[in-house]
Amino acid sequence: MWRSPSGAGRRPSASIGQEAWVKARANSDFASFAPYLEHNLELAHRYVDCFDGYEHPYDVLLDDYEPGMKTSEVARLFAELKAELVPMIATLSENAERVDESVIHRTFAVDRQRQLVADVVRQMGFDPSGWRMDDAVHPFATSFGNRDVRITTRWNETNLVSALYAGMHECGHGLYEAGIADSLQRTPLGQTESLSLHESQSRLWENMVGRGRPFCGVLAPRIVELFSDVAPTLDAESFYRAVNRVSPSFIRVEADEATYGLHVILRFELEQQLIDGSLPIKELPEIWNARFREYLGLEVTDDALGVLQDVHWSFGAIGYFPTYALGNLIAGQLWERLDRDIPELDDKLAAGELGDLREWLREHIHRHGSKFSTTELLERVVGGPMAVAPFVSYLKRKLSDVYRVEL
Ligand code: ZN
Repeated sequence: MWRSPSGAGRRPSASIGQEAWVKARANSDFASFAPYLEHNLELAHRYVDCFDGYEHPYDVLLDDYEPGMKTSEVARLFAELKAELVPMIATLSENAERVDESVIHRTFAVDRQRQLVADVVRQMGFDPSGWRMDDAVHPFATSFGNRDVRITTRWNETNLVSALYAGMHECGHGLYEAGIADSLQRTPLGQTESLSLHESQSRLWENMVGRGRPFCGVLAPRIVELFSDVAPTLDAESFYRAVNRVSPSFIRVEADEATYGLHVILRFELEQQLIDGSLPIKELPEIWNARFREYLGLEVTDDALGVLQDVHWSFGAIGYFPTYALGNLIAGQLWERLDRDIPELDDKLAAGELGDLREWLREHIHRHGSKFSTTELLERVVGGPMAVAPFVSYLKRKLSDVYRVEL
């Protein structure tokens, strides 16, 4: 059904698959999407053919999202991460009844949720003179220079923290854009290049700050004040434990901090196989479901909850997924460094003072724009390359506290 492109100018757009994907997902019908995916893979191969000197064809695709990163390096990091996460999640699943999340699943009026999120992002550094926040179906952040930052969130009346943490996440992205030095504006260095670094900023604010014990102590009383009708007795401890509940689930974007990495590792493995030709497209749903069972212990019975859930492949974004999990790893490294650089950080966060953290991130990361590669920047800030151990020990520390189990 696809015309062979006769030149770059006539190359059909990969994004034509997006419409097909919307329908295929609605009908949970992978077969109707398969020809479009096949076409996008063909385009990816043609793109790879424009380059040489790579170890693995996937390196070329990955490079568009994480410049300089090699497939072999991601594979090494992810193998280490997977070996830690699989048993950790199994232990937490066995102890699922220890954490009660019902306190965040009541009916929380959206107008008051708006107040909560506005307060929190303001504390983080949202600047009303140059920023705006709007509603979106899928939250995102964008900017047009360091003084025009736009973030979005989405509202869910029966989940108190969905909009809050999406807002903190996008505000973390926004702070990165806002923190790029004036001297780099309107130059190529004034753009950010590494999606992993960008994601490290959003995840650090969302998870390490937002779901951390000290700041939960700020959020809980504010919630009681705003929602005295629904949560009049919400205490910081119950809130902290509820928002850190780990539970294997089907949808990546709704996954908790621990299981999230496995969703990404699964996609990374399948993308490589699709690119090197060792996985025929028609077998993709079956292999997806088998790996999902192996990693997360869940049986996928519907492609909309499985292989068809993400938009990325429908417009040819192959090589993007790894950056989501690499962002978590970098956030873990930065968090470890922050612990040494700002020893009183917990006290500051517990007092709702977020300025020192924001300024540290601006000084060490944001202001440089894309002056340094991710490797160079990490070398400067944490003294070494991307690593798994800091993130894993952060997770173990927090989740053994939340679940009161040895991890
Ligand atoms: Zn993000």
